[in-house]
Order: sequence, then structure tokens, then C-alpha cells
Amino acid sequence: MFRQARWDEPLIFELSRPGRRGFIVPEVNPTIKKVVGNIKIPAKLRREKPPDLPEVSEVEVIRHYTRLTQMSYGVDNGPVPLGSCTMKYNPRIAFEIAFDPRITMLHPLQDERTVQGILEILYYLQEWLKHITGMDYCCLHPAAGAHGELAGMLLTRKYHEIKGQLEKKREIIVPDSAHGTNPASASMAGFKVVEVPSDENGNIDLEALKAVVGESTAGLMITNPSTLGLFEENIEEIRDLIHGVDGLLYYDGANLNGIMGYARPGDMGFDIAHINIHKTFSSPHGGGGPGAGPICIKDRVVDPDNDIWLHDLLPGYRVVYDKEENMYRVEGPGKNSIGLLRTFFGNIIPLVWGYVYILALGPQGLRLVTEQAVLNTNYFMELIKDVRGYTIPYGPNRRRKHEVVVSAEKMKEETGVTAEDVAKGLLDAGFHAPTIYFPLIVREALMTEFTESETIENIEKYAERMKEISCIAYTDPSKPKEWPRNTSVRRIDNVKANHPKTLAPTWRIYLRKYGGGGNHV
Ligand SMILES: *Cc1c(COP(=O)(O)O)cnc(C)c1O
Repeated sequence: MFRQARWDEPLIFELSRPGRRGFIVPEVNPTIKKVVGNIKIPAKLRREKPPDLPEVSEVEVIRHYTRLTQMSYGVDNGPVPLGSCTMKYNPRIAFEIAFDPRITMLHPLQDERTVQGILEILYYLQEWLKHITGMDYCCLHPAAGAHGELAGMLLTRKYHEIKGQLEKKREIIVPDSAHGTNPASASMAGFKVVEVPSDENGNIDLEALKAVVGESTAGLMITNPSTLGLFEENIEEIRDLIHGVDGLLYYDGANLNGIMGYARPGDMGFDIAHINIHKTFSSPHGGGGPGAGPICIKDRVVDPDNDIWLHDLLPGYRVVYDKEENMYRVEGPGKNSIGLLRTFFGNIIPLVWGYVYILALGPQGLRLVTEQAVLNTNYFMELIKDVRGYTIPYGPNRRRKHEVVVSAEKMKEETGVTAEDVAKGLLDAGFHAPTIYFPLIVREALMTEFTESETIENIEKYAERMKEISCIAYTDPSKPKEWPRNTSVRRIDNVKANHPKTLAPTWRIYLRKYGGGGNHV
């Protein structure tokens, strides 16, 4: 069983001692000094006082961070079945290539002719994503899933604006199973969010949808498969309803693990989709690095008189291939674009990472990823569905795609042991917990996703531990309240850890709130 190390590790700032150095910059060689002269930094560029950095020796820095890694848990330690987060193994080959200095040392303002290599990579990534999603154009610019959603919502807004309909197109429809970022993105783009409920099988309630679709519908955002891991069975009817009122269909493709190589948003009738490179295509996330949330669109004419198409509205830059010159070129946002959402091409490293992952697998490999992820989910569901205290709400007999949501509501009612206690019991046994209390439509939710990374043995061990927890809950329900005991940090106070009054995410804020010298744990 994996055990996290327990060190009473201070913060790096608390390790600091005045004058202690990690590195001593050598005196400039006198000959060089003669040539270069004394370097004078203009007064206006100088700080009044040095930055407040910790002063520590090199070995102390190494020990500090090594200890922290030993106190933590990641996908290199064991399964991280966080549903919806798609925490898969990050292949080392992709790491090697994405961090090659020939990529990391490039400057975005370099002449196109000197960066043909990276432009070729980005061009082919755009092409792969077009094929995977069944769309006509892809733009790599957005930096995360939610950022892609915002881009998509601004695109939807601009679409209606150019058509002179924005006055009445005020609403975006979002099902109640949606990821929280969906209503947030729609709202940030200035739309009113209209929620529709799911039926008992986990599909969108069609009658409820029909009741809200109308003149004011600007579009619909859905995740398919949904956050319940279920494929929306009435997607074609939904498409016709939304297109019937000239709304745009937005596809939240954060997790393509459940359909990749088998079904495509473009074929389902979606107009806009984003993809999380840092989920489906393996680049690390969740503290492991920045993301990338490209958006892809199915082209359609927006203003025939002025020859404006949906692709003209895309944000940021795209790479195009110039046949005549046989070279790749960067195409900037045109005059009808929704404009830049950040600098240049977004985050290049996760994009290269995802590209290597795609190339390393090829089309057959990508299909296998889907097959394995779906098989893992359904196998786990079979192992857990009859265990006392757990239920599978919404179509318990329907097959899941990339994830399954288990409810511990029954266990809570019968024993008082909650989904959070179950999660802590998993931590205690050296596993990572699933996503809990999401989606919001499932009480005491344990949202589990093994991806293609996990072996059958690990899935069985995981289910075995969940069974053991159920046994303990029904025999000694006070015990789970003491979990976790085997982790580097025991149970934290959820409210204190999140409340703006008590939360101290940086050292500076900590000092302001609590003063120096206190025990930070
Ligand atoms: C993760 C996720 C998002 C948001 O992606 P970020 O990169 O975290 O912004 C949106 N929708 C779904 C379904 C997700 O799982």
C-alpha cells in the first residue's frame, strides 16, 4: 500500500536565513569588463529594495521540494480516477519532445521562415483535431477548457450580432448535468443561462427543452457523453430543435475519451466544440502545468452579402499552409474575429505534448484508448453496483462511456457515512479519491474515471477498497469519520480551506492574515 511521507515541512520562506545563497555569481572576468564596461541599470528600472525571495542554499531547496513530492500523490504513484478531470498517464516521450529546447527556446515574434518546424507541428495538430472532431476549422489559441468555452460563447454572440439578431438572442440553454464552467462561460459572454433538467435515464428532458427553446435562444451547450458518462440519445432531435430557431450548438469536448475514433461532434450536428488537450490528449494538469483548449467549428455562412463565414470569427492565430511557397504561415485574427483572448498561440508545450500523444498512437491507437477507457468504466461499474450503500443513479442499466457516477446517498441515510468519508477512506488506503459532490444532480456523488491508463488489477483493488469501506460503514460507522490517518495531512476543514476570510494561498497573504512565526499547518 502506498503511504505518503509525513514531514513537518516548513514553507520555503520559513527556511530562509539572511545571506544564505544557493548560487554565487562569479565576478565578471576583467577582460570582459574591459570590453563591455560596467553595466549600468537605469535607475527607473531598478527596484527600491530587493524582491522578498527566500534565502536558502541549493541543497536545502532540493531537500524541501523532494520532501514535498514525497508528501504528495500523483498519477505516477497510482490511479487518479477523478471523473471529468481525465487524469491519465503522461507519456515520457511526449514530455521529452515538448520540452526540447528547439521548442522551448523559440520566440513567438521570430520570422516565420525560422520557425517552420513548430508551425508544421501546430498545422498538423489543427488537422488531426479537425478529423477527430469532424469539424472544418480548428483554432489552438484558448488556454484551457473554460477559455475555449468563453471563445465559443463570444463566437455565438458575434454570430448573432452580425446577423442583427443579438437584441433578441439572449439565452443559452444548459442542461442541469453540465460542468460548472458552461453556465459561467455563457454568463461571462453576456447571455442569460436557462437550465433544463435531465430525465430519469440521464438524457435531456425533451419536453422541458421544447418548452424553453424559442426566439430568444442563442444556442445550447452540452457535454456528450454527459458528466454522468452517458451518451445523449436524442442528440439529433435536440440539434433540429436548436437549429430550427437559428441557435448554435456548442459541444463541451473536455473529455473525448468516451467517443474518440467512434463518434464526432461535427457529425452529430454541433457548430462549435472545444477540446481539452490536457485531458484527452494527456498533457498534465491540475497543478502539473498549463492547459490548452482549442476550439473547432463547422463552417457556415454568417453574412452572405459581405461573405462573412463562421471561421472568420475565430479568435487568435491559425497556421495555414501556403502551397505556392511551400511554407507554413501564421494567419492573424481578421477584422471580424472576436479578437485575441491571450497572446500568440496560447500554450505551446501542452499543444506539442498532445500532438506527440496523437502521433504515438495513430488513428487505431486513439480508438483503442476509447475502447479501454469505456471498458474500464463499465467493468468498475459492474464491480460496484451491487455493493451495499452504493447506487448508480440515472439509467443504472445503461452502459457508461468514459466515467460513471456512483452515489453514496443510501449509505449516508443508513449509516451517516458520506461520500466525503468514502473518499477519505480511499486516500487512507493509498489511492486517490474520485471527484466528489459533482455533478450536482447526484447526491453524495463519487464520479469515477479510470481512463485507459489503469490495469484491471488496479481497478479491482479500488473496487475492493470501496467494498471494504461499505463493510466498515455498516459495522462501525464512527470509524470513517477519523479518516484519513495514513496521509501527510489529516482531514482538513473544508470551510476554512475555502473561505475568503481564512484562505491564505500565498505567503504574503498568510503573513497579512496570521502574522509571522505561526504554525502554518
Ligand atoms: C475540465 C472540464 C472543463 C473545463 O476545463 P478547464 O481546462 O479546467 O478550464 C469543462 N467541461 C468539462 C466537462 C470538463 O471536464
